[in-house]
Amino acid sequence: MEISYLNGKYLPNNEVNISPDDRGFLFADGVYEAIRWYGNFFYDIDCHLTRLKRSLNEIRMSWPEADTLPAIAADLIKLNSLEDHQAIIYFELTRGVARRFHAFPSPPVNPTVYAYARSFRPDINLISNGIRTILRKDIRWMRCDIKTIALLPNVLSFQEARDNDCHECIFSRDGIITECCHSNVFFVLDGVLRTHPESELILSGITRKSVVRIAHEAGVTLKEEAIRQDQLTAITEAFVTNTSFEIGPVISIDGIKIGDGMPGPVTRLLREKFDAEIRALKG
Ligand code: PLP
Repeated sequence: MEISYLNGKYLPNNEVNISPDDRGFLFADGVYEAIRWYGNFFYDIDCHLTRLKRSLNEIRMSWPEADTLPAIAADLIKLNSLEDHQAIIYFELTRGVARRFHAFPSPPVNPTVYAYARSFRPDINLISNGIRTILRKDIRWMRCDIKTIALLPNVLSFQEARDNDCHECIFSRDGIITECCHSNVFFVLDGVLRTHPESELILSGITRKSVVRIAHEAGVTLKEEAIRQDQLTAITEAFVTNTSFEIGPVISIDGIKIGDGMPGPVTRLLREKFDAEIRALKG
């Protein structure tokens, strides 16, 4: 029986009841985080907590118990017997339950806080052999830095990727490559690793940050500068980063092969360094 967390209580997932008047349901008025458990440690949980607090702040929501997040995550791992497994912990917070009205509830109501831990098995085949992608217009709003639960543009774009037998959709806004449906994206162009700088147009990925650091440490020349869509024909490598792929080599965009259609040397080097860090953290 899967045990979840709802508003201070641990309970079987099928007993989690959320009101139809919850603002998450009515307005997608909330934020979320997904954290990786590697069998004996959470990856960068402090950064996830910092990002969650920032997202909450940006949407003018507060969760006074935010600092209990690591303890809730640890409880969920134990209660679901996931201590020796890989897992994803998902946290979602909404502005709470109130009669439908666009303005914030007045007086304020407690947020709805929901979390679960589920076992996670990375797709080794995709990580080793690479993913196929499509390129589409970035149809999201202008605050992609907030990890909002309002993911309809991401859902529609990701489904389009799936419909095309692909694994991710790369977004282009005004001719500039931003990121993907649920990952950040890096390219090798003229021997330089490039990724969109942190801004309101991308989510500041926890994995992106690690990869930027690892690239610097490995002596890979990196510029946090976006590339233009019309430069895609000149790239020699690409990869996406997120909590579940970690580093996912991109082998094609809209059916056009990148390089020789295999994960490139920079991607492989960063993947090796990333894996070595995980091994060291595992002890
Ligand atoms: N960009 C978007 C739009 C995402 O949804 C995600 C993850 O869900 C990422 C980037 C990668 O973030 P992280 O590395 O923190 O998982």
